[in-house]
Amino acid sequence: MADPSGFLKHSRRTPARRPVPLRLRDWREVYQPFSEKDSRDQAARCMDCGVPFCHNGCPLGNLIPEWNELARLGRWEDAADRLHATNNFPEFTGRLCPAPCEASCVLGIGDEPVAIKLLEQQIADTAIESGGLTPRPAAVATGRTVAVVGSGPAGLAAAQQLARAGHAVTVFERDGRVGGLMRYGIPEFKMDSAVLDRRLAQLAAEGVRFITHCEVGVDLAVEDLRAGFDAILLATGATVARELDVEGRHLGGIHLAMEYLVQANKVVEGALERAPIDAAGKHVVIIGGGDTGADCYGTALRQGAASVTQLDIHARPPETRDPSTPWPTYPLMLRMSAAHEEGGERVFGVNSTSFEGADGAVTGLHLVSGTRIPGGFVPDEGTDAHLPADLVLLALGFTGPETTGLLDGLGVGLTKRGLIGRGDDYQTDVPGVFVAGDAGRGQSLIVWAIAEGRSAAAGIDGYLSEGSQLPNPLAPTAVALR
Ligand SMILES: Cc1cc2nc3c(=O)[nH]c(=O)nc-3n(C[C@H](O)[C@H](O)[C@H](O)COP(=O)(O)OP(=O)(O)OC[C@H]3O[C@@H](n4cnc5c(N)ncnc54)[C@H](O)[C@@H]3O)c2cc1C
Repeated sequence: MADPSGFLKHSRRTPARRPVPLRLRDWREVYQPFSEKDSRDQAARCMDCGVPFCHNGCPLGNLIPEWNELARLGRWEDAADRLHATNNFPEFTGRLCPAPCEASCVLGIGDEPVAIKLLEQQIADTAIESGGLTPRPAAVATGRTVAVVGSGPAGLAAAQQLARAGHAVTVFERDGRVGGLMRYGIPEFKMDSAVLDRRLAQLAAEGVRFITHCEVGVDLAVEDLRAGFDAILLATGATVARELDVEGRHLGGIHLAMEYLVQANKVVEGALERAPIDAAGKHVVIIGGGDTGADCYGTALRQGAASVTQLDIHARPPETRDPSTPWPTYPLMLRMSAAHEEGGERVFGVNSTSFEGADGAVTGLHLVSGTRIPGGFVPDEGTDAHLPADLVLLALGFTGPETTGLLDGLGVGLTKRGLIGRGDDYQTDVPGVFVAGDAGRGQSLIVWAIAEGRSAAAGIDGYLSEGSQLPNPLAPTAVALR
């Protein structure tokens, strides 16, 4: 039973961010620690509603009121148990999730929602710091083998579920290190990679085998993969970037966001001494208003860019929930990532029409103001403008998975959107081959990747052994509620 007046006694508070001048000098996480007392007060704001919509907002179906109450009571270990009942990696989502649960919190109808994301991180970190990442290897081995291709959150969640069910799991990753976009896409100032490494140590201790520098379909033949494993999970992400096909795209200094972010992250981890694409002293223009663009924004500021401008084709959203997205849906509203308070400028409602350059290198771009419409953009007359730029980063999203090599070799069917097709059990049209995460869903979020990894693991376990006991958060009945 929650504190019936907690939400009246305490107003919403979240951790302060480190001062901008300090955080621009390093790559450490932006948020400052939050005290145990403050966390417990925030947990007391949860009303333990009769119909907790937060469950429904979260793709994982996290048991939010239950762990909020345990956190209020200071029972951190019990809270962590309830949290891990539905989420393999709450320390990732506690840091990185845009928190659709908070958008559907009942308290949010008339007040500010419960700080659910903060509490998720506090519970996960507190438990981990007191030794809570104890490996839980399976008691009995099934003798069945599963290959997971791709080590992002979808592949890792599935690998952990399947290893705990007793299967021998091997994760193949073409990069030098495990983690997918959480390793080389998302910068350290959003999540310290030590957080990822701690969890990987748990998976390894539970028997998950990792093979890096191995691109399946190139370094390992598809036939050998098929012959070596009883089931295969494709968790290869949606890595094909959307292009901007305008005049001057060929000029030097125009790069895809991921080319830039991977190099920056490798410099931070010490694998690369200098990034060939570096923003230091440059006028940087980022085309694309989403998460990837914001990550380029914070990275360029830390590298010492002369200026940073982020262009968004959409109109500036309202400061508060737009009426077109009423509670409990995920709101259309202005989102400020921490990077946006660190300097630079955001420009909304503009479309880039061409690049110009000198000696083969970009020097600027032309843009027009106007209105975004489905599938296009209507420019306002006479709004042509020029922006100087010597580094342009394209952060326009991703169209789907790469098909050459692995997917062609397996012969899996694609959907009209170019994603890997699958049934309710996450199995593709090739028996024994399953798919989870962005490769099947399209570019999405870590919380969805974890949920898909858990559901695909249940599908694989059911395929390998009758009557799977593994939880399936995205079972068709659960999806129907969303
Ligand atoms: C820059 C950026 C920032 C983001 N920030 C956030 C955020 O703050 N919060 C959030 O919730 N979401 C964020 N996202 C989205 C989120 O990262 C993705 O939705 C999520 O990582 C998808 O997980 P996944 O496991 O499906 O694939 P991925 O994380 O993309 O992992 C796929 C892995 O498969 C590997 N691979 C591919 N093909 C092969 C092959 N043939 N053989 C071996 N390995 C292969 C790739 O190298 C990669 O490591 C962000 C995305 C980007 C690009």
